[in-house]
Amino acid sequence: MLFVILLAFVFSGANSSYIEYNTTQRIVPGKINVHLVPHSHDDVGWLKTVDQYYFGGNNSIRGACVQNVLDSVISSLLEDKNRRFIYVEMAFFQRWWRQQSNAKKIKVKELVDSGQLEFINGAMSMHDEATPHYIDLIDQTTLGHKFIKDEFGQIPRVGWQIDPFGHSAVQAYLLGAELGFDSLFFARIDYQDRAKRLKEKTLEVVWQGSKSLGSSSQIFTGIFPRHYDPPDGFTFEINDVSPPIQDDVLLFDYNVQERVNDFVAAALAQANVTRTNHIMWCMGTDFRYQYANSWFRQMDKFIHYVNQDGRINALYSSPSIYTDAKYAANEQWPLKTDDFFPYADKVNTYWTGYFTSRPAFKGYVRLLSAYYVAARQLEFFKGKSSSGPNTDALADALAIAQHHDAVSGTQRQHVAADYALRLSIGYLEAEKLVASSLAFLAESKSATGKGNGVTSFQQCPLLNISFCPPSEASLSNGKSLVVVMYNSLGWKREETVRIPVSTASIIVKDSEGREIESQLLPLSNSTSKIRSLYVKAYLGKTPRETVKYWLAFSVSVPPLGFSTYTVETAKQTGPSSAISTVHTYEGTKNDAIEVGQGSLKLLYSADEGKLTRYVNSRNMVTAFPEQSYGYYSGSDGSDKDPQASGAYIFRPNRTITVKSESQTKLTVVRGPLLDEVHQQLNSWISQVTRVYKEKEHAEVEFTIGPIPVDDGIGKEIFTQITTTMKTNKTFYTDSNGRDFIKRIRDFRTDWDLEVSQPIAGNYYPVNLGIYLQDNTTELSVLVDRSVGGSSLVDGQIELMLHRRCLHDDLKGVGEVLNETVCVPGGCEGLTIQGKFYLRIDHIGEGAKWRRTLGQEIYSPLLLAFSEQDGDDWMSSHVPTFSGIDPSYSLPNNIAIITVQELENGKVLLRLAHLYETGEDKDYSVMSSVELKKLFPNKKIKKVTEMSLSANQERAEMEKRRLAWKVEGSAAEEPKVVRGGPVDPDKLVVELAPMEIRTFLIDLDYLQMFSA
Ligand SMILES: [Zn+2]
Repeated sequence: MLFVILLAFVFSGANSSYIEYNTTQRIVPGKINVHLVPHSHDDVGWLKTVDQYYFGGNNSIRGACVQNVLDSVISSLLEDKNRRFIYVEMAFFQRWWRQQSNAKKIKVKELVDSGQLEFINGAMSMHDEATPHYIDLIDQTTLGHKFIKDEFGQIPRVGWQIDPFGHSAVQAYLLGAELGFDSLFFARIDYQDRAKRLKEKTLEVVWQGSKSLGSSSQIFTGIFPRHYDPPDGFTFEINDVSPPIQDDVLLFDYNVQERVNDFVAAALAQANVTRTNHIMWCMGTDFRYQYANSWFRQMDKFIHYVNQDGRINALYSSPSIYTDAKYAANEQWPLKTDDFFPYADKVNTYWTGYFTSRPAFKGYVRLLSAYYVAARQLEFFKGKSSSGPNTDALADALAIAQHHDAVSGTQRQHVAADYALRLSIGYLEAEKLVASSLAFLAESKSATGKGNGVTSFQQCPLLNISFCPPSEASLSNGKSLVVVMYNSLGWKREETVRIPVSTASIIVKDSEGREIESQLLPLSNSTSKIRSLYVKAYLGKTPRETVKYWLAFSVSVPPLGFSTYTVETAKQTGPSSAISTVHTYEGTKNDAIEVGQGSLKLLYSADEGKLTRYVNSRNMVTAFPEQSYGYYSGSDGSDKDPQASGAYIFRPNRTITVKSESQTKLTVVRGPLLDEVHQQLNSWISQVTRVYKEKEHAEVEFTIGPIPVDDGIGKEIFTQITTTMKTNKTFYTDSNGRDFIKRIRDFRTDWDLEVSQPIAGNYYPVNLGIYLQDNTTELSVLVDRSVGGSSLVDGQIELMLHRRCLHDDLKGVGEVLNETVCVPGGCEGLTIQGKFYLRIDHIGEGAKWRRTLGQEIYSPLLLAFSEQDGDDWMSSHVPTFSGIDPSYSLPNNIAIITVQELENGKVLLRLAHLYETGEDKDYSVMSSVELKKLFPNKKIKKVTEMSLSANQERAEMEKRRLAWKVEGSAAEEPKVVRGGPVDPDKLVVELAPMEIRTFLIDLDYLQMFSA
């Protein structure tokens, strides 16, 4: 009986048969339009390596296979031409593309041409925004955009940084507007900021990231109301629990109207917090669409039934279509300036730990970033070879390393090892290229007029821990060491370099064969210690115990060029390198100890063993800074809020000052070129402070680790530099190494901050430096890699230098950040050696040092070693070289950030102004570069100005740019200045403050020395 009733019920409806869903819907004016944007967020490494994610390996960690995503999405798109999909991460798409048949490629190209498949963002990875350097961001975006242009002829229009943990000003103006993007979308902003924006309908803004470039570099920016996934109840991966639409009348659980109602309700809720009639739903999330039809089938039905219902309009869309709809609405948008750091998603959950997480990896990325800049220059000077070693593998590895779970330090340990391995493989190939280019350039004096590249050059990537076999080799039998120093900066530099040597009786000669002053310094205890352990860990062998000294000498190197120095055995009766005096102060005397041979003197108190005074006798700056170390014990999440400190999150629960375990000994090393102060703060923190005769800053090399955790407490180590400056809660930190942004403690510009984490909530990313100002003075600290920093007390700068955490912070990585180094016989906590640089200036005079030394820190001299028999090197080789006109140097406010030969023989050139408007009285001005002098001996046939990623002509990009309207008066803005067009005869490039200009240059006689 029951059976009969049921049957009757089922058959009482319409006939069940094939339903053709109408998915053709476009935008309908006057209705709420729900833009469904199908997407998959595919991390280029995180819990698994990039390759494991691609092919579906290691699925016990997570069932994720990007190959499945792309295969199934393409089939689904081919089934219905109204369906759309966006793809973002070119590192994955390239892997897939090269495996496809030509027939498949043709079909995919049609999907791209029709807009069904659209590349969004289009960089190799969705880069982190806190910890990368802007040059890396540009390079990895250029690489992805080039692939898209070469294969598909397409130019991405939209920035899609949906997952990074906070958003930088440089992302908005440089990696947004200057790429020609019309809009930028993301999910993660501070929870308090989001609450206010939801209330005020200000989630969509026009963002001006640069003070200097203002409205000329602004971008429409959309922040998602919640996250980058669909509203609850609309996720359709195979195992998802959202109810699918069941519209077959022959089956039970028919639910069309119910689901349509759900859809309309969710759309209206979002429309309530959004301006205009257009809302976007991100239909997807991490590694979704592994079976794409399970999503598309549901979206087909929703579009069909919701539009039949008619209350709102649903359509397949993309961020570009959405952007155009927003633009067409002709609305005025709120203005956003500065950035979106720091990011907190809950009251105790500040994502400020990752600014420092994995400091060794961050240092390695930075080191290779600059190496890549130098290697491309040398590759250009020699002529790019498609067969020989090149920089492509390094470019790829660096691009992947910028991912928001890579350089950020938030990946699993095995994935961190994979990124490092890729970098080292890329480095080894680039190292060969550098060696052969230097050989080619150094030999070009030979009879044939060009080098054969037979000279063998060695480089020393472990020089920082005093390991350098060629310089350690004993100089005997008339052999001497040849050191070629390459300078990738556009101006001449003079500095003191150091190499490890195994004998004291040596002299150093310059390119002209003149003996120059040099100084021998003892290795610090900590350097000797990490040298033996880390060489064994990295190379699997024990280094020879012959290194006795650092040999320091001052060098002068021309712009984009090299100088050659030789180290020889001293004659028995002749002069020899000066051995430093070493004096250890045990804290018994009451004297002040003075160090410094030049203008800058640092004074230490002998009984306390610490810095007490800073005196620059040239500019008459005197200050009384103190420096200390301490650590935060990380929250273990055992209180009522389970939030622990971890890879992402910084949540301190106690601050502990490191007090010396005994009276601190000071060891002072003195010599003609520099003085050093060695301090051992405790058994696992030490530092060497260096004052160079010719420089007016202090260089501090710290060695931290292994951080002890036997007490079961994770520790996050900081240093503080404390002065009496009255800084009124204000300090400045850079954005990706470029613009400086004003920070005010316990304050946000965009909302009234409720302070819950007074330490973690005041941390900001530092890539270049951090500084303080008061009425008379400025205190600047520059860094050698990205770290977290703050000013928690007026007059004080704090940097977090190392972290070792014992708890997972519940943000998905599922592993504790507890880095170790292992050799046969055991593992210990990772030790970090790094540097920061400190200087105090009169107010208004600090910028010159920050910008100039900042470039030198980013691009250290590249050292290559060879040896000579007798002393015929200088006569048989070119001892000095400059790739630009020898009479020329770039202005002090301009940097060459890219010189790269492309496969088509064209040269990619990028020039960057280093100063912001108003930053320096002399250098914040329009400046110019003479291209003819940059490319001597060549004829410049044509110069084309391009967008930042070089995928379109700048003029075309400007023509296409959408002119967004900003709320309030636009007339208040001072006129934005930019360099003018390049006259094809004069070939002079003007750059206004903070401008970066990108050119494609056609040259004749590209091979400099070809016959
Ligand atoms: Zn992600």
